Formats: sequence, structure tokens, C-alpha cells
Amino acid sequence: MNNYAELLAAVTANEGETREVFDPATGELIGTAPVQDVAALEAAIDKAEAAQPAWAALSDDERKAYLHRAADAIEAASEGLAELLSREQGKPLNGPNARFEVGGCVAWTRAAADTPLPVEVIIDDESGYAEMHYRPLGVVGAISPWNWPMMISIWQIAPSLRMGNTVVIKPAETTTLSVLALVAVMNQVLPEGVLNIVPGPGRTVGDALTRSPKIAKIMFTGSTPVGKRIIEASAPNVTRLTLELGGNDAGIVLPDVDPAAIAQDLFWGAFINTGQTCAALKRLYVHDDVYDAVVEELAKVAAQMPMGVGLDENNVLGPLQNKAQFDIVDKLVESAKASGARVVMGGDPDRDAAGYFYPTTIVADIDPHQELVLEEQFGPALPVIRYSDVDEAVKLANELEVGLGASVWSSDRDRARALAARIEAGTVWINSHGGLHPMVPFGGAKQSGYGREFGALGLKAVAEPQVVSG
Ligand code: NAD
Repeated sequence: MNNYAELLAAVTANEGETREVFDPATGELIGTAPVQDVAALEAAIDKAEAAQPAWAALSDDERKAYLHRAADAIEAASEGLAELLSREQGKPLNGPNARFEVGGCVAWTRAAADTPLPVEVIIDDESGYAEMHYRPLGVVGAISPWNWPMMISIWQIAPSLRMGNTVVIKPAETTTLSVLALVAVMNQVLPEGVLNIVPGPGRTVGDALTRSPKIAKIMFTGSTPVGKRIIEASAPNVTRLTLELGGNDAGIVLPDVDPAAIAQDLFWGAFINTGQTCAALKRLYVHDDVYDAVVEELAKVAAQMPMGVGLDENNVLGPLQNKAQFDIVDKLVESAKASGARVVMGGDPDRDAAGYFYPTTIVADIDPHQELVLEEQFGPALPVIRYSDVDEAVKLANELEVGLGASVWSSDRDRARALAARIEAGTVWINSHGGLHPMVPFGGAKQSGYGREFGALGLKAVAEPQVVSG
């Protein structure tokens, strides 16, 4: 089960309730996904619960070995997985897209296996002895979004398994086949019942997962409004939560930059995955001294980045994944245009095309409180705001309720670091935006969520800290 046809056959539903899956780049029917209900979810939770004690009873080394075998299996199926992901999600094979995402699944699975988490001795002196262990929680419920469906699912699954939990995952409705295929590949090597998947609607199956008293922890990545619903739904059971929610990341460009030198990194910071990335650069504040040059250099880079059907190796940008997201981007850019902002490039989609392509769009000379700036566009349309006082730029960057990532661009690292300390965000990058590393904790400030993923902190987040004292 390694190539595209085998993977698709393994995850296609032939009976029960189903949903047709169309390639967002072409409108072509690519398969039929299962749609399951709350009864199927309950059966999966029972299965995960039954499998958990034996999984937890394995040694840490045994679970690490399983994770490495799962990573080997993903690696062996990587080209088929990337093709399925490209067809269903829309992202091109090439560039920082589908192959990159499958590669990320392998890297994060191995990192979850290899991250050291020794027992910590807290005190050992005349006052007493206490050590900290990290015990399994039980069954972890994972709920993932459609933008990086495989990689984000892995971020939830791999650390949970490492720490001795079993998992029930609910993928997003519009990228079900991708996550089903990933799980099927991993389940070739994992013991029965350890990793379970239930594709179904968020409002029924997702909601029931968050309400289940048998679920010890929810790992959720998605929008802030759904995150808030999950907090309420999980409250009666005091279910543990890690919430990776929406972002509207600001970038602040200081007057001392070389515009041509930063343009490529600015571009990918904003347009990776065609802008459909939680921690993408979504509003760019540029000092007046370099404003025109930065906009010009950015537009030059953007003009060289081909957008099109994912399976064409030339393309590095793809369509929006679904019609609802296309409409959000379209509406926000239209509102920016109506406000008098200057469209430097793009902003003119073919609304009758078969695919949901929205052209790479840069909007300059926009009011800092225009909708395209204040709302999360989650697509290839970047507003560039002019500022002349850096304190004002910091104030604008911090004034929203979200705070996932941010970036500062400067040729003076110390100056950039001093500015970073004033920005309310879970990560502040300097002279880049959005780069993640499996050992570096990632998560949001303010309404971008709470909890951190990756590294030792990420492992601790899917475990119950237990002190053994005396
Ligand atoms: P979404 O919130 O609409 O859906 C996410 C998941 O939640 C889906 O699987 C959906 O079926 C499920 N869901 C919907 N209603 C539910 C409910 N009532 N109970 C339980 N589950 C429910 O988000 P989306 O549109 O798939 O993803 C885009 C959003 O996700 C953006 O805001 C983006 O910034 C955010 N995001 C955040 C991160 C991060 O790490 N912080 C990463 C990726 C995406």
C-alpha cells in the first residue's frame, strides 16, 4: 500500500454514508470519503480505551521503536501520500508543499520518538526527595484542520503515542482521505487499536469527541471560534486541552533592511501553502523609508512564483482548498479595494473557473484598520501597511486578540531582539517567518490558544505529571 492508486483504494468508501471528494484545482472527482457518525466514534473510543493499558505497559524504548517503524512506513509511501494530499488539499507536489508536508510527518514522528524525557529529580537534600514522572493520560482525542492535514495530525498523534496514550483522531471534512491514508500507512506497523480514526462532521462527531468522559485530553488545531466551543464542551469532564487556534501574524520591517535581500523570505513567510497556514505572515508593517522598495521587491519575487494544478512540477502555489475559503479571501480583498487601498498585483480571480484559484495578491497603502488587515484571510492576499513610528507599529501588531507568531526584519539583530520582547506572540522570528522545528516549542499567545507542541514541552503536554516523593 505505497502508491497513489493503492492508497486511494484503501481509503475509498463503498458503503454507508459517503462524501464525494473533488480536486480543488480542477473540480475533478478524485474519490469517495466515508462519513461516520457518533456511534462509530464511540466504538473507536472503546477500542482505543481497550488498547491503552497494553500500549502504556510497553517500555519507552519499545514505543520509540514503533514510532520509528511508523516513520519508515510513511517514508516508504511518501510519493503516494504526497500525490493524494496534492489532489485532495490542492497544494503542489513541489515547493514547500505536499512532499515537504509528508517529509515533515516523517521528521516529526522521529523527533517525537527521540526527544529525551528523563525522570526529573526536583529535590534531593535534607528537606526531602521528590522526582517528577510523566505518566500516560489515557485516550487522546485529536481534531485536525484542512490546511496541513497530515502534518498537523502527526503533531497530535506522535507525541501522544510516545507518552503511552492511544489516539482517536477526527480529520477535517474536506481533507479526510489524506489523513485516512496516513493513518492506514501507520497502522501497518502499529498494534491494533492504538491509533483510530473517525471521519465525520465537526459539529456532531467532533463535538461528541470533546464531550466524551473517556477522553483524557483533546489536541485541537483549528479556528478560534471552534476552540472556544471545545473549551465549553470539555469543561464538565475537566478534559485537558491543547488549543492551536487561529492567527493573524504581524511582521514589522525596520528601516535598516535591504529590501531585495529580504523579499524572498518575506514572500514565503506570507504565501507558504498559498497563505493557508496558521502562522503565515498575514499583515506586514513596513517603515516609510523602505516601504516602496519592499513592496516592489516583494512583488518582483511574487511574480516569479507559478500557481496552478498541484501535480504539475512547475507550480509552487495552488488553489484555495475549498470554496468557503475562496469566498473569504475574495470578500476581504474586495472590501480592501472598495476602501481605496492600492492593489499592487492580483485581486482579480476568475470566479467561474473550475478550480478555487485566487491569484497572488499584494495590497498596499491600506488603512491599518481595514478588514483585510484585522481579519485572518488564510489565503494568498497580503496587506502591506505603511508606518513611520515603530512604537505605533508595535501597538498595531499587538492590538488584535490573537497572537500566534510574529516577525521582525532588521539588519541589526540586537535591535530586532529588543523589539521581539515587546510583541505579544507565541513565537517571534527575526528575518524570517513561520519556520518550525520539531525540537522548538510552538503555540499561541492570547486567543491563538494555549499549550505548546514539539520538543520536551510537547511530550509533557500529552502526559500527566506525577510527583513521587519520599
Ligand atoms: P475549523 O475550526 O473550522 O475546523 C478544525 C477542525 O475542527 C475540523 O476537523 C472540524 O471538523 C472540527 N470541528 C468543527 N466544529 C467542531 C466542534 N463543534 N467540535 C469539535 N470539532 C469541531 O478550522 P479549519 O477551517 O479547518 O482551519 C483553519 C483555522 O485553523 C484557521 O483559523 C487557522 O489559523 C487555524 N490553524 C491553527 C493552527 C495552529 O497551530 N495554531 C494550525 C493550522 C490551522
